[in-house]
Amino acid sequence: MAAGLKDMKRVFSKEKTFRPKKKFQQGTMRYQLHKHAQATLSGGRDLREAVRLPHREDLNDWVAVHVVDFFNRINLIYGTISDFCTDESCPTMSGGPRYEYRWADDHNYKKPTMVPANKYISLLMDWIESNINNENIFPLDTSTPFPKNFLPLCKKMLTRLFRVFVHVYIHHFDRVVAIGGEPHVNTCYKHFYFFVTENNLVEKRELEPLADMTRRLCGH
Ligand SMILES: [Zn+2]
Repeated sequence: MAAGLKDMKRVFSKEKTFRPKKKFQQGTMRYQLHKHAQATLSGGRDLREAVRLPHREDLNDWVAVHVVDFFNRINLIYGTISDFCTDESCPTMSGGPRYEYRWADDHNYKKPTMVPANKYISLLMDWIESNINNENIFPLDTSTPFPKNFLPLCKKMLTRLFRVFVHVYIHHFDRVVAIGGEPHVNTCYKHFYFFVTENNLVEKRELEPLADMTRRLCGH
């Protein structure tokens, strides 16, 4: 088991990520909270408990550190299969035959548009990255308040990040298994799922594409 974990870590650190990792500035409140979240996890506590808002902490802060953390981890996971996610293999951002997502933003895609999965995920990650690097949205210190639309925006980011899990699980899981990444991806998924459901951040209908798997993996 220990050796397996080591191998897995090697696999995931060796593989390319397709963008740099966003880090928290040391010494800031948010950095402390990030460390707290990490320590809670590495302490082996139940994931279900680890996602609960700590006493007297602000929900916005708690959501902010998790959005950044999940962005980094999902980015890493997609990086391990991205060579296999091409315009030919995945001409649309789908999750099986029943689910297909169209991209929309304020720039080049004013109307929801069908794009290949790799394009969709690239647009999605660029969009999240620009949000988390925007100090008006993710202020660097706690004396600056979060904007009023912070939570709705985070809900949208998490909803879209969930779709990466949908695509990876339904279309590329053989590749994840082939590189021994299954336990890592499952743990990340469970953490994500418990976090968004505990804090009501993603609509139930959005979670539907992975409902069967979630029941097996998370027990509900
Ligand atoms: Zn794909």
